[in-house]
Amino acid sequence: MTDNSIREVIVIGSGPAGYTAALYTARAQLKPLLFGSSIFVGGSLTTTTEVENFPGFPDGVDGPVLMEHMRTQAEKFGAQMVDDDIIEADLTGDIKLLTDSTGTVHRARTVIIATGSGYRKLGLPREEELSGRGVSWCATCDGFFFKGHDIAVVGGGDTAMEEATFLSRFARSVTVIHRRSALRASKVMQNRAFADDKISFIFDSEVAEIKESGGKLVGVVLRDVFTDATRDLDVTGLFIAIGHDPRSELFAGQLDLDSAGYIKVAAPSTRTSLPGVFAAGDVVDHTYRQAITAAGTGAAAALDAERHLAARK
Ligand code: FAD
Repeated sequence: MTDNSIREVIVIGSGPAGYTAALYTARAQLKPLLFGSSIFVGGSLTTTTEVENFPGFPDGVDGPVLMEHMRTQAEKFGAQMVDDDIIEADLTGDIKLLTDSTGTVHRARTVIIATGSGYRKLGLPREEELSGRGVSWCATCDGFFFKGHDIAVVGGGDTAMEEATFLSRFARSVTVIHRRSALRASKVMQNRAFADDKISFIFDSEVAEIKESGGKLVGVVLRDVFTDATRDLDVTGLFIAIGHDPRSELFAGQLDLDSAGYIKVAAPSTRTSLPGVFAAGDVVDHTYRQAITAAGTGAAAALDAERHLAARK
């Protein structure tokens, strides 16, 4: 089935980038239609509790509440939200074709992609339920909550070293757990971490179990990858820094992506390699990955789409 109308703009993604793009395009009278996923409405911030670094909330704000506010604000100006996935996209023509999970094809002159990225998980029981209760994927977001705590960081790359170094400002101790014998991080990052008195390293080991008590993380069990011997590590913070994957598979082969799969844009604009297609938020950004930067580029994508449409009239 094809929806007969041709939309001015369709937004894909319901995180800070998508909702902000919807708010701006709605206020510009472009009547945006936003597809925000069937199972994960509101994006990454719905998986956390307190957000303390989004401006405008001096006492912090609950992640899901912040996302609900963003959605309501966009709807107030006429943005139409659909809690469904886009499962197919043909972005090459003048009119873009997007298919939802019911098989309906939606048509639009411009598309804003704000599908975000997913942190890689360890895949262990309790990992997700303890997110925001000791387990975290973002030191910038959550480090402040771990003042005086003993923390573990999992990973051996630049991100893990950066997280460990940043966390050592707050923590009593930081233990880096890496499953290989040597770090993958750049020498500069390694040296900075090695020079930090609060940071210690456990090599050739992986997290085998996450321990919980009273709904909070209380420790991990580590397994030696060579001997299989296990040992307990008492920590109240576990930061998982083993990478993240942009949700860009749908657009591969049509849009230019970088080697890690992030959508390439003509910065400082949000223009992708196809005219009329704009991208914002974590699906583009492997540097900052914050709610406020996602919202900022969502606003930029809306303005870029608006200007693109105006230039064609
Ligand atoms: P996302 O928020 O990831 O949203 C993308 C949405 O698009 C998702 O709902 C996804 O399901 C949907 N989607 C994907 N593909 C499709 C499709 N084909 N069709 C329809 N929908 C689709 N940042 C901070 O600034 N402060 C914090 O305190 C903070 N805490 C965090 C805590 C956790 C546990 C996590 C995981 C992240 C945290 N972040 C924090 C980072 C922040 O959440 C992200 O930087 C931000 O949400 C990125 O916004 P986004 O709009 O690009 O993508």
